[in-house]
Amino acid sequence: MNSPQNYTNMSKAFSDLQLLEFLIFDTHRSEELFKEEYYEHLDKEQALAMIASAHALAERDMFPYYQEMDGNPAKYDGNGKVMTHPQLKVIVQNAAEQGWIGASASFEHGGMQIPESVNNAAQHIFQAANNGVQGYLGLSAGAARLITNFGTMEQVERYVKPIFEGQWQGTMALTEPQAGSSLADIKTSATPTDQDYYKIKGQKIFISAGQHEACDNFVHLTLARIEGAPAGVRGISLFIIPKYRVKDDGDLEYNDVFCAGEYEKMGQKGYATTHLVFGDDDNCRGYLVGEANKGLTYMFQLMNEARIGVGQTAASVALAAYKAALQYVQERSQGRHPSEKDPEKDPVLLIEHADVQRMLLTQKAIAEGALSLACECNKRYDLEHVLSGKEKDDNHLLLELLTPVVKAYASEEASRSASLAIQVLGGYGYTLDFPVQQHYRDIKIMAIYEGTTGIQSMDLLGRKVVINNGRALQLLTKEISKSIAQANEYDGLKPYAGQLEEALNGFIAISQHLFKYAQNNELERYLSDANVYMEMAGHMIVGWQWLKIGTTASQLIKDNKHNYTKGFLEGKIHTMKFYYKYELPKTKVCIEVLKEDSWLTDLRDYNWF
Ligand SMILES: Cc1cc2nc3c(=O)[nH]c(=O)nc-3n(C[C@H](O)[C@H](O)[C@H](O)COP(=O)(O)OP(=O)(O)OC[C@H]3O[C@@H](n4cnc5c(N)ncnc54)[C@H](O)[C@@H]3O)c2cc1C
Repeated sequence: MNSPQNYTNMSKAFSDLQLLEFLIFDTHRSEELFKEEYYEHLDKEQALAMIASAHALAERDMFPYYQEMDGNPAKYDGNGKVMTHPQLKVIVQNAAEQGWIGASASFEHGGMQIPESVNNAAQHIFQAANNGVQGYLGLSAGAARLITNFGTMEQVERYVKPIFEGQWQGTMALTEPQAGSSLADIKTSATPTDQDYYKIKGQKIFISAGQHEACDNFVHLTLARIEGAPAGVRGISLFIIPKYRVKDDGDLEYNDVFCAGEYEKMGQKGYATTHLVFGDDDNCRGYLVGEANKGLTYMFQLMNEARIGVGQTAASVALAAYKAALQYVQERSQGRHPSEKDPEKDPVLLIEHADVQRMLLTQKAIAEGALSLACECNKRYDLEHVLSGKEKDDNHLLLELLTPVVKAYASEEASRSASLAIQVLGGYGYTLDFPVQQHYRDIKIMAIYEGTTGIQSMDLLGRKVVINNGRALQLLTKEISKSIAQANEYDGLKPYAGQLEEALNGFIAISQHLFKYAQNNELERYLSDANVYMEMAGHMIVGWQWLKIGTTASQLIKDNKHNYTKGFLEGKIHTMKFYYKYELPKTKVCIEVLKEDSWLTDLRDYNWF
C-alpha cells in the first residue's frame, strides 16, 4: 500500500539556479548592464555568487519553515499585538545582513547598487522558498526606495538605514474599508500644524507586514488627504507615519498607530495582514513626502515595482509547485501504458503517462514563461538607470505596457499551474501532507492585491496601449518582430516564428478594431471585455518570451560554448513547442470573442443574476 510516508513530502528543490542563469544572462543578456558606469563594480561571476548565497540562505532559513509557518499563522492577541512565527525575525535579520533589503539601492543610500535583474533573482529564490516571508523584505525595500526617491535628506537619514538593517519594517498603506480598487475615495485625513508634521486620522485595512511583535518599529508609507485638498486622486498626499516617532534626542515615542486586528486568510498565513487605526487619541503625526497632492504619483512608482514583484512571485511559487509535482511523479507508480494489457507487469511511474506529462509541461510553460517575462521587466527597469533621452523614454513606455501584463498573466495562470500540481499528485495533493495545496492557496492573493486582474486589464486597454498615440504598442510590436527575425535564422524555429507573427498581427488588428470605440467615446463598450483582451495579450506576450527562450537555447546548442546540460537546453525548446501547440492558440479564441459585440455593457439589470 502506498501511503504519504512512502514519498518525500518535503520538496528537495524549490528553485533552479541553472534556469536563473539561463534567463538572466543568456536570454535577457543582463551582463550588458555591467558595462555601464552605474553597475561596473559587478561582473557575472560575482552576480552568480551572490545569487548562490541567496539560495543557501533560503535553503537554510526560509524553505524548511514554509509549511510550518502555514500551520502557525500570524495571530492577533485581541489587544494591539500580532504574534508571528519566531523564525521570521531570524530570516529578516539574516537577509538584511546579506544586504538583500537594500540590495538595489545606490551606494550613497547604503545599498549594494546591484541591478534589479540580479536582486530579483535572489528575491525569486526567496519567493519560491517561502513567499510570505519574502513579502516582508520586498515591502521594506519598496518603502525605502520611495523615501530615497522623494523624501528629504533628513527623512532618508532617519528611516532608510534601520529599514535596510531589518530593524524597522516598511509598509504601504493605501486601502481603506470603503476604498480598495478605487483609491480616489480614500478618506484618511492630514491636518497641517505649525510644526514639521501633520496630524493624521483614519484607518487602513489589509496592511501587509503591518505592526507585529517581531520588529521594533514600522514605517508606514501612507496615502492621506490634506484638509481642503481637491477631491479624487489629485488631492492625495504621501506621508511617512512611523509606529514610534523619533524625538529630537533620538528616543522613540508611541505615535498613536494602533493595530486593531489581523486578518485570518486562506494563504500566506505567516505574512501578517493588519488593520491599522491612526490617531484615535489625536496624537498621530505624519511627515509629508515630497509635494502635497502628488502622493498617488509617488506611490505609483512603488506600485508598479510591486506589480512586477507580485507577477514574479506568482511565477516563483508556481515553479516551486512544479518542482514538488516533478519530484512526486518520479517516485510514485500507478497503472500501466494503454498498450500494456498484462496486469502482472509492474505499474509505471506517473511521469510516464501522457496526461501527467501534459500537466507537468503546462506548469513548466506557465511558470518559466512568466518568470522570463518578469526578467524582461527587471532588465527594462535596470535600463532606466543607464539609458538617456529617447531610448530611455521608449524603454519606460514599454515597461509601462508590460507591467499590468506580467502581474495579471502570471497571477492568473500561476493559479492554474499550481492547481495542476495538486492534480498531478491526485488525492495526496489535496492533503496538508504535501506543499502543493499551500502553493495553490498562497497564489490566489496575487490576482487580488496590488490591483486586481480586472483593474490591470482596464489599465492595459484603457491606458497603456493607447498612451502617446499607441507608441507603447508600436514599441512592443517592434521588439516582438525583432525576436521573430532572430528565430527565423533557425530552420527548426521558423514555424513558431510564423505562429507568433500571426498572433501578433491578430493582436494589432483587434486592438485597432477596439480603438474605434474609444475614439467614439463609447468607453463602457471599449472596456467591457478588457479581461479577455488581457488574456489574449498575456498568451501572446508569453509566447514571445518562449520564442526568445527557444532561440537562445538553439543558439547555445549551435555554438556549443556553454555549461548547460543538453537535456536542459533541449527541454527549453521542447517546452516552447508545447506552449505553441497548447497555449498560444488561445489568443485566437480571445480574438473571436473580442470581435463580437460585447453583451456585458447591457447587464445593468441585476435581476439577470
Ligand atoms: C492579504 C492581503 C494583503 C494586502 N496588502 C495590502 C497592503 O499591504 N497595502 C494596501 O494598501 N492594501 C493591501 N491589500 C488590499 C488590496 O490591495 C485590495 O484588497 C485590492 O486592491 C482590491 O480592493 P478591494 O478588496 O476593496 O476589492 P474591490 O475594489 O471591492 O473589488 C472587488 C471586485 O470588483 C472589481 N472591481 C472593482 N472596481 C471595479 C471597476 N471600477 N471596474 C471593474 N471591476 C471593478 C475588482 O476587480 C474585484 O474583482 C491587501 C489585501 C489582502 C487580501
